[in-house]
Amino acid sequence: MKKACSFCGRGEHDVQMLITGLNGYICNDCAEQAYQIVHETMQASKSNGDGKFDFNLSDLPKPKDIKAYLDQYVIGQDDAKRYLSVSVYNHYKRLAQQATDDGVEIEKSNIIMVGSTGTGKTLLARTIAKLLHVPFTIVDATVFTEAGYVGEDVESILSRLLQVADYDVEAAQKGIVFIDEIDKIARKSDNPSITRDVSGEGVQQGLLKLLEGSMVNVPPKGGRKHPDQDYIHVDTRNILFICGGAFDGIEQKIAQRMNTHVVGYNSVQNVQQIDKNNLMKYILPQDLKSFGLIPEIIGRLPVLTYLNPLDRNALRSILTEPKNSIVKQQVKLFEMDGIKLTFDEAALEYMVDKAVEYKLGARGLRSIMEAIMMDAMYEIPSKKVKSFKVTLDYAKKQLEKANISGVKIS
Ligand code: ADP
Repeated sequence: MKKACSFCGRGEHDVQMLITGLNGYICNDCAEQAYQIVHETMQASKSNGDGKFDFNLSDLPKPKDIKAYLDQYVIGQDDAKRYLSVSVYNHYKRLAQQATDDGVEIEKSNIIMVGSTGTGKTLLARTIAKLLHVPFTIVDATVFTEAGYVGEDVESILSRLLQVADYDVEAAQKGIVFIDEIDKIARKSDNPSITRDVSGEGVQQGLLKLLEGSMVNVPPKGGRKHPDQDYIHVDTRNILFICGGAFDGIEQKIAQRMNTHVVGYNSVQNVQQIDKNNLMKYILPQDLKSFGLIPEIIGRLPVLTYLNPLDRNALRSILTEPKNSIVKQQVKLFEMDGIKLTFDEAALEYMVDKAVEYKLGARGLRSIMEAIMMDAMYEIPSKKVKSFKVTLDYAKKQLEKANISGVKIS
């Protein structure tokens, strides 16, 4: 008898592998698909999860512990760290409190973090994720478009959260979502009557639905599509949303508002106290509105915090201090080849100067380091050396060479 898969009917030469059963066969593809169906169905029908995301409030890190942990990886940004730590801790408290129904309902406090690109917003989100006891995912708001347009619907946020939660709906409903680049879905004009704005107001309305807390039908993704696949109903009431955005140019809106407010009584004194180099720290919800977020969204993001621009000192610290700093990573790479890598202080200062000069913030430090180290990483592992020192001269020479040969520092 010709051997063939009892599910799809393909013969043994048409498949990679055929497993023999008592009265039939199954091919590798069908076996895999069967596994997916079983896995998704079991997870979706589970009402109480497998304990992976269960927690006890007394065992959880307190806000100060969370901040201390963030301090190991992220330089500065104390305000944002404190706001984040408190919000995450309160999120746990809300979840714990729901078990005891005494009539006092703690409302959730979604957060919005505003700060120039490369100041650590995503880094904060990623770092906090390592510490969390609830499912967590990072999504980029730029991929969303209104339903019916090319791009992802806002509901896809929830399918990612479900994936992280292993399709345990109950756990996903207690999760945390970081929405990056929220400023990119701002209305391009403050005028609400503007016609079809695919990436603006329509997407904000979609997002509002999630932020408000509603039952959302999520098409299960990631797994293979099978005919019986139903929508998964996800309640977003308890999901904590943390949003981040650069809001380029919002300083002007802040300055405008402050100018109009400081006129008159006490104005001279007020003006003197204003830190003109960091207007971001005076941000208020109305500035987000001037930038183009709809008031309903702003109302659903009651905790507003900011990140400071990174000055020279912060950039110097970022090079060496964080637990997985750029320098520590390079040292480790060389160590794996048995080579001791060291940097002259002057070389490090030079990298910081260049990052400041290129106005690339912390993101630039990495590109500068890569450009300087490229030749060494290529050649040294084949040489019989035990140590390598990056001097100021070497750093200068390498960076100039990289620039000349067209390696883009970005
Ligand atoms: P964004 O604010 O645009 O989300 P990121 O968090 O992605 O910026 O930062 C880009 C990179 O710059 C990070 O991977 C990290 O290496 C570095 N970086 C930025 N800010 C900090 C900071 N405050 N402390 C330490 N590293 C930082």
